[in-house]
Amino acid sequence: MEEQGGQAAFGWAARDDTGVLSPYSFSRRVPKDDDVTIKVLYCGICHTDLHIIKNDWGNAMYPVVPGHEIVGVVTGVGGGVTRFKAGDTVGVGYFVGSCRSCDSCGKGNENYCAGVVPTSNGVDHAHGGVPTKGGFSDVIVVNEHYVVRVPDGLALDRTAPLLCAGVTVYSPMMRHGLNEAGKHLGVVGLGGLGHVAVKFGKAFGMKVTVISTSASKRQEAIEHLGADEFLISRDPEQMKAATGTMDGIIDTVSAWHPITPLLALLKPLGQMVIVGGPSKPLELPAYAFVPGGKGVAGNSVGSVGDCQAMLEFAGKHGIGAEVEVIKMDYVNTAIERLEKNDVRYRFVIDVAGSLGSAA
Ligand code: NAP
Ligand code: ZN
Repeated sequence: MEEQGGQAAFGWAARDDTGVLSPYSFSRRVPKDDDVTIKVLYCGICHTDLHIIKNDWGNAMYPVVPGHEIVGVVTGVGGGVTRFKAGDTVGVGYFVGSCRSCDSCGKGNENYCAGVVPTSNGVDHAHGGVPTKGGFSDVIVVNEHYVVRVPDGLALDRTAPLLCAGVTVYSPMMRHGLNEAGKHLGVVGLGGLGHVAVKFGKAFGMKVTVISTSASKRQEAIEHLGADEFLISRDPEQMKAATGTMDGIIDTVSAWHPITPLLALLKPLGQMVIVGGPSKPLELPAYAFVPGGKGVAGNSVGSVGDCQAMLEFAGKHGIGAEVEVIKMDYVNTAIERLEKNDVRYRFVIDVAGSLGSAA
């Protein structure tokens, strides 16, 4: 049991690269003046959690308590906290710290700070260097700067995935002008990230085409999520027919896949944004993007400001993730199903309803 001297916490942790989670007791840090203590209500299961607990990226610091799509309620605030009070409904996303002094932090891009501290499996030098423990646990203590407010009226279980999946697609859509009515957006991979990208694209008034490997998702994508078209990426005829039609593409695929056929879908000067994290390098031949002047960009989640703006936008447009709410004791099955692409479209753990409350 790992102790930080503060409130007792109970969660589920992976102990090795089998990624199997089991109950785990630890303690949170003693809250500082600018800290908010949050009782976790819901936490989404992001594919990043899966990459980390299975050590796909070679950086797991076991025991890993995953979870960075957190919605909860404030149970206590330090004396210096100005933005939150007990009883507020709040969210915590992918990170809980940054240096606050570099160029990126100065510009409000904390997510690109070299010292960004992930909410789970991060090293938090400002708090003793102990690996961070995420939201698959009953309580979390977070500096108020990294906490966002959940607007009234949003369903909390459907909101949890927005804290990572939502902002990860919303942020690059805003940055690259992929938020303009009439433009054509391609969304590659209809999973947790992809399905919210479709919803944001439609709320912006765009034409949205899903590019998928799963023919079984076609009907739901069009009838329920509102996509305009649905392409099977492994069907060269369908892909050929859509050549040069898209202004931008958000690629959310978690595994290695060919991106040359995707770049061919862009108009000249079109923009591809890669947000997925395959562990094997993608191939990017010059001919696929140089002649068309096409852009290939990355994106890592979004800033705290982006996250707040995204939640306000979601509140206004009634956007929430499509979720399958589970109890914590189903988490290992859920992760196996996520690995097999058997989820429509995000698992969310009812943390408070599974673990009770130590908060
Ligand atoms: P997810 O729910 O598993 O969705 C990924 C989708 O990719 C699947 O639903 C599937 O869609 C498609 N896919 C899976 N395997 C494929 C393959 N071999 N070839 C082609 N397509 C495949 O995962 P997620 O939570 O949305 O996360 C997606 C990726 O983004 C992960 O790598 C995750 O780590 C990363 N991520 C990045 C950030 C960031 O800040 N950049 C933030 C969060 C997550 P179809 O069935 O439609 O083909
Ligand atoms: Zn995530």
